[in-house]
Amino acid sequence: MKTRVGGMAAIAGGLLLSTLSLAQATGTAAARPAAVDGARLTAADREPGNWMSTGRTYGEQRYSPLEQVNDKTVGKLGLAWRYPFGLDRVIEATPIVVDGVMYTTSAYSIVHALDARTGKLLWKYDPEVYRGIQASGCCDAANRGVAVWNGKVYVGVYDGRLEALDARTGKRVWSVNTVIDADRNYTITGAPRIVKGKVVIGNGGGEYGVRGYVTAYDADTGAQAWRFFTVPGDPAKGDESDTIAMIRKTWAGDQYWKQGGGGTVWDAMAYDPELDLLYIGVGNGSYWHYGQRSEGKGDNLFLSSVVALRPDTGRYVWHYQTTPGDAWDFTATQHIIVATLPIDGQPRKVVMQAPKNGFFYVLDAATGRLISAEKFVPMVNWAKSVDPATGRPVIDAEAADYWTEGKPKLVFPGSLGAHNWQPMSFSPKTGLVYIPAQSTADIHHPKSRIDAPRKGVWSTGMEIPSVPEDKKSIDEFAAIYTGKLLAWDPVRQKEAWSAPYAQIANGGTLATAGNLVFQGSHDGRLLAYAADSGKLLWERRVSSGVVAAPVTYTVDGEQYVTFSSGWGGSYPIAVGPLSERTRGVPDAQVFTFKLGGSAAMPKVRQRALVPPDPPPATADAATVNAGRELYRNHCGMCHGLGAFSANVIPDLREMSPQTHEDFQAIVAGARAMKGMPPFGAQLKPAEVEQIRAYLIQRAHDRRTELR
Ligand code: CA
Repeated sequence: MKTRVGGMAAIAGGLLLSTLSLAQATGTAAARPAAVDGARLTAADREPGNWMSTGRTYGEQRYSPLEQVNDKTVGKLGLAWRYPFGLDRVIEATPIVVDGVMYTTSAYSIVHALDARTGKLLWKYDPEVYRGIQASGCCDAANRGVAVWNGKVYVGVYDGRLEALDARTGKRVWSVNTVIDADRNYTITGAPRIVKGKVVIGNGGGEYGVRGYVTAYDADTGAQAWRFFTVPGDPAKGDESDTIAMIRKTWAGDQYWKQGGGGTVWDAMAYDPELDLLYIGVGNGSYWHYGQRSEGKGDNLFLSSVVALRPDTGRYVWHYQTTPGDAWDFTATQHIIVATLPIDGQPRKVVMQAPKNGFFYVLDAATGRLISAEKFVPMVNWAKSVDPATGRPVIDAEAADYWTEGKPKLVFPGSLGAHNWQPMSFSPKTGLVYIPAQSTADIHHPKSRIDAPRKGVWSTGMEIPSVPEDKKSIDEFAAIYTGKLLAWDPVRQKEAWSAPYAQIANGGTLATAGNLVFQGSHDGRLLAYAADSGKLLWERRVSSGVVAAPVTYTVDGEQYVTFSSGWGGSYPIAVGPLSERTRGVPDAQVFTFKLGGSAAMPKVRQRALVPPDPPPATADAATVNAGRELYRNHCGMCHGLGAFSANVIPDLREMSPQTHEDFQAIVAGARAMKGMPPFGAQLKPAEVEQIRAYLIQRAHDRRTELR
C-alpha cells in the first residue's frame, strides 16, 4: 500500500498522499473503500470507529470500546437517519462499517452500500435469486450480512452462490457455486468470514436432507482452497480424509449418508489469530429422528459440535460435541465467542457458546476441553446436567427418547432453541455475556416409516407438528414461548440479571464500553440497558419486529448506533398463531441514531384486525379435514402451521374475494416471481379446492375469535 501510494503521490505532486492519509486518519470514506486486511482485523481495537467484520473482532465479542454514547448520555440518542430497504421481508444482517461506508443486506441476499453518516444509498447489488426459492429452504430467504476484504465485499447468496463485489461500485468481480449436489436443497444464509486471504462459508439445508461442509475460497480469485465435510458421505465413494474415517465410526446403518446426515454450518464461526484456529459451529442431524438416521447408535460426529480447524488447510484440530447423537434439532451453529476469562484465578482463553440445547458452554480455546457447562434457561428436560469429567450430557431418556418406543415426547427446549442465531455479546468490562434467550418446547412425534429424500420437501423423520388452532391451546403455548435478555456470568455460570419479553425471537445484542447493552425486540422496540445492572435506559418504537443485532461506529469522531428492523425468519413462519399477537408489520429499515439526532421517527403502523369477509363455509367436515392435512404438508411451513401466518407471508385467512377467485392459478404458479412457488406438479385442482375449503373455515374461525 505504502509503495503504491508513494508512486502515485509522486505523479500527483504529493496531493493524493495527503488526501489518503487524511481520509484514513479521520475515518471518512477512504479513496479505496473496504481496504480491510488481516492486520487491520487482528488490530480491530485500534480503530474502534469501524465495524470491519460481522462480530467486529475475529473473536466475535460484539463489544465496542466506544463510549461517547454511555449510560449517562444515552437519553439524548435521537434518530440521525433511516433507510427503507424497499422489500419488507426479514432482516438478519449485521452491517459492516468501514471508513464511513455501511455495507448491509436484505432478504434474497441483496447488498446495500450506504453513506454511514447520512444513510444515502451509494450502490445496491441484487444477485437475482429466484423469488420462489424459499420453498427449497427453511426459515425464510434471510441473509446475515457481508464480509469485506481488500476492496471487495463478499456475500453468500441464498441459492448457494458466494460472490465478490467491487466495494466502490457494487459490480460483481467473481461468483462461485458452493453447492456440491444440485439435487439437494442447499442454501446460504450466514455471513462469510475471511481469514488469511480465504473466504470461508457454510450452507443451510439440514431439514431437507443435505451433507454439511464449509469451503474456503481465495478472496482475490474465488479459487477453492479447501473443503471440510462435517459428516461422512457415501462409503462407496471413499473417505475424503483420515478425519472422515475417524468420524464414520460414530455412525450406524446406511440411512445417514443417503439422507445426507446434516451437520450444516449455517451461521457461527470465529477465529483466534494467536492460536491460529478457526472455530465453526455445526448443525443438527438429518434426519432429526436418531433411530432412522443412525439406528439410535453412536455420537454422529460432528453433529451439534464446535470444531476447530487450521484456516490455511482446513485440517481438523479438535471438536467438542454439545449434543451427542442429536435427536432434537439441537444445532451448535449458535454464535461462538472467543475471550479471556479468569478461570480458577488464572487468565484462560476460552470459547463460549449458548447453543439451542439450553446449556452454556465454556471450553478451552486451545484444546476444546470442557471447562464448565450449566443450564442457562430453567426449562431444559432432555439432559439433567453435563458431566464435568467426561464432558458429556446426562441424557434423560424418559423425557426425551422418542425413537426407542416410537412415541411422541414433549421436549424442552424445542427446535427453535433456548437461543437461536441472534448473536449474543460479551463485555470484558462487566465480564457478562448478553444472550437473547428464550423458552421453547416441541412435541417430537416420530414417523414410523422412513421417507426417501425428495428435493424441496421438509424431511426430518418427524410428523409435521399440529400447531393448535383454538384460542385456549394457543394461550397455553404462548405461556411457554417467552423470551428474555439474559446477562450471564460465564465464570460463575449463573444469571447476573435479566429483562423479560412476552415473546421469543428477540434481536441480537451489542455491548459497549459506555456500560450499555443494545437490543431490538420481537414487539418492535429498540432498547438500551445498563450493562451492569439491567436498568432500561432508552427506548424507541418501530413498526416491525427486530431480530438483527445492532452495531455502533464513528464518522468524523461522532458515534452512531444502528438497528435494523425487518420481521420474519423461522419463528413467525412455524409458530404464526403466537407471533401474530404483536400485530407488527414486516417493515424493513435501517435506523441510525446519534446524540442530539433530530430526525423524526416514522409513525408506528400495525396490522389491521378487520379481515375481509370470507366466502360462505359450505364444505363438509371431511373436505375441511382433508384440506387441513394438505395445508400442513404443503403450505404450513411458509404460511404458518395451524394457520396462521404471522405478518410475513400473507395470512390466508385474510384472502380477498379476488384472491379466492384466482386461488387455483396462484397455487399453480401465477405469483412465482412474487415469492409464491408453483405447486401445480404436487397438488391436483381438487386438492387445491380442499385446501381453500379449510382456509375458508379458518377465516370464519378467526372472525369468531375477533368478535
Ligand atoms: Ca435445524
